[in-house]
Amino acid sequence: EQARFPRPLPAREALSVAIVGGGVAGCSAAAALRALGVGRVAVFDTGRHGVGGRLASRLAEEGSLPAAQSGKGRGVAAGDGALRFDHACQFFSGAEPADSGDATQGSDNANFAGAIARWETSGAVAAMEEGAVGVISADGAPRELPGPFYFGTRGMRSVAEAMLEGHEGIEVVPHCWVNRMRATDAGWELQGEGKDRGVFDICVIAHNGKCANNLLKPSGAPRTYDFFRRLKLSSTWVALVAFHGEEVRLPGGLRAAFSSGLPSLKLAVDQGAKFGGGANTWALLSTAEYAKSNKVPQERVSQADADKVLQDLLEDLRAMAGVDELPPVRYSFCQLWGAALPRNALRGEAGGCTLDVESRVAACGDWIGGGASVENAWRSGQAVAEAIVGLADGRKVGDIGIDGPLVSIEAAAEAL
Ligand SMILES: Cc1cc2nc3c(=O)[nH]c(=O)nc-3n(C[C@H](O)[C@H](O)[C@H](O)COP(=O)(O)OP(=O)(O)OC[C@H]3O[C@@H](n4cnc5c(N)ncnc54)[C@H](O)[C@@H]3O)c2cc1C
Repeated sequence: EQARFPRPLPAREALSVAIVGGGVAGCSAAAALRALGVGRVAVFDTGRHGVGGRLASRLAEEGSLPAAQSGKGRGVAAGDGALRFDHACQFFSGAEPADSGDATQGSDNANFAGAIARWETSGAVAAMEEGAVGVISADGAPRELPGPFYFGTRGMRSVAEAMLEGHEGIEVVPHCWVNRMRATDAGWELQGEGKDRGVFDICVIAHNGKCANNLLKPSGAPRTYDFFRRLKLSSTWVALVAFHGEEVRLPGGLRAAFSSGLPSLKLAVDQGAKFGGGANTWALLSTAEYAKSNKVPQERVSQADADKVLQDLLEDLRAMAGVDELPPVRYSFCQLWGAALPRNALRGEAGGCTLDVESRVAACGDWIGGGASVENAWRSGQAVAEAIVGLADGRKVGDIGIDGPLVSIEAAAEAL
């Protein structure tokens, strides 16, 4: 049933907005809403360790890796020291590829560049060394990719944290799975982890996949639900590995390389290139095809599955490095990201965010901002904040995005 609210929206100073999802898009939206003078902003996120979503970083020493429900880890010897990994997104760039077809590209890129500069100044973000990122072709030839490529200095999660820095009064509620949103006369009433989480004028859905569909289905926002059901996602296996002994090196001095033509490995990233320390640690990301043909229930990865995936990815890393043998593994962890990358996305004129005026439900995320990237997710968060403030000010009254076309971006996602 369609949700309707009897009272007009309050002005922005008195407006309350709940953001369900604390990834890049949700954090970007929260910061922009506060910067635009919205009275109350709360971000709910499932993350046990804080915000970030697919900007996910782990210290093996925390014990969080072997204990994680959705993965399988082995062998952190006591006294090894902290092994720092990014286990999804590895780095980001500051400009959309030229073929994005996004009319708003010019001005938004300038804003994103400004945001990167602020995060760099605060020390949360740094650029990878020039020439560190490239492609290794099937015949083993390395080719540099033009940068700059940025990473979070304390792990990619610190990029999301940096977005919230300096914005007073954002309520961040970590480790909270919002499982119900109910329309009442007073606004959207949220529940999560068995508790009431407050009532808000507007609810922003800043996550996707089954979780979002389950939340939206009974909520009273049928058009947003229908929009979300059109999203298609692909999976990625990620193995985090630390080696004993001699450092593993890639051809051409690359520290992060996309592969071309290997059966399982899409991207190998030397974590030492970001965090230093000489720990000989790597993140190995699979292709979407490999993840599709090696799909298992994400919540119940067996040790046998994890071992097989690890062996496949290590074999491809060996081939990529052009060596006969890799050094022995001292630590490993395998995780399947079941909903890793969007296969279709809202693009062009309709892109940016969605807003369903009658339901008072908005949405942001990488796939709504044009496709899988930190930049698209960030821009989507900015766009949703502007749309909401426009609505509260009585300027924008039309729906945004929800009827827009979702364009296949499979090739672009695979090249990420
Ligand atoms: C393996 C991998 C590698 C990648 N590599 C790159 C790269 O090199 N460069 C690049 O630019 N991009 C890369 N990306 C893409 C980039 O990480 C994403 O585009 C971006 O982080 C998406 O941000 P988001 O805010 O849209 O979504 P998410 O990061 O998915 O955030 C959604 C958040 O909502 C939370 N959530 C879900 N349901 C609920 C609920 N019911 N209640 C509360 N919280 C909830 C989730 O836990 C999550 O924290 C990669 C992604 C993956 C998975």
